[in-house]
Amino acid sequence: MEISHQKHSISNILKKLRESGRSKTINGVRIKILPALKKGEVRVKDLGKLQAATGYEYTLLRGMGKYGERVLICGTPNQVGIPAEYLERKYVWSGHSHPDDTSPSQADRDALSAFDQECSVIVSACQKSDNPKHKTRTFEQFEDWSDWLPS
Ligand SMILES: [Zn+2]
Repeated sequence: MEISHQKHSISNILKKLRESGRSKTINGVRIKILPALKKGEVRVKDLGKLQAATGYEYTLLRGMGKYGERVLICGTPNQVGIPAEYLERKYVWSGHSHPDDTSPSQADRDALSAFDQECSVIVSACQKSDNPKHKTRTFEQFEDWSDWLPS
């Protein structure tokens, strides 16, 4: 039941994105934006499934307040741009997908800093893998070096 519902919602979102998504180019990166989604319509954990289904990266933003609009943005296979208007309007960067490894890039950390946000989430498109590098991951603005320091 859960699984068929999930598939259903993923295909619904992709249909909505095709029909009502608006295209934009951010610093040479072509993106498609689907605004005005309700809470629960797309969740952070869906982003990996969306990327697995289409081959493109996805980002999810949330407007102010618990019931603020959700905005889904679809990018390229390994990049997604976020329009500056969402930073200006104090949206929260809920999470984004990666094709493979869930390690944050420097660009991810810079974006988090631009959002003035403590942390966000990365979900891999490799859903069924038990490889630890595919595990859903919360990342912060600054790299945590504690694992690297000899003790
Ligand atoms: Zn990233």
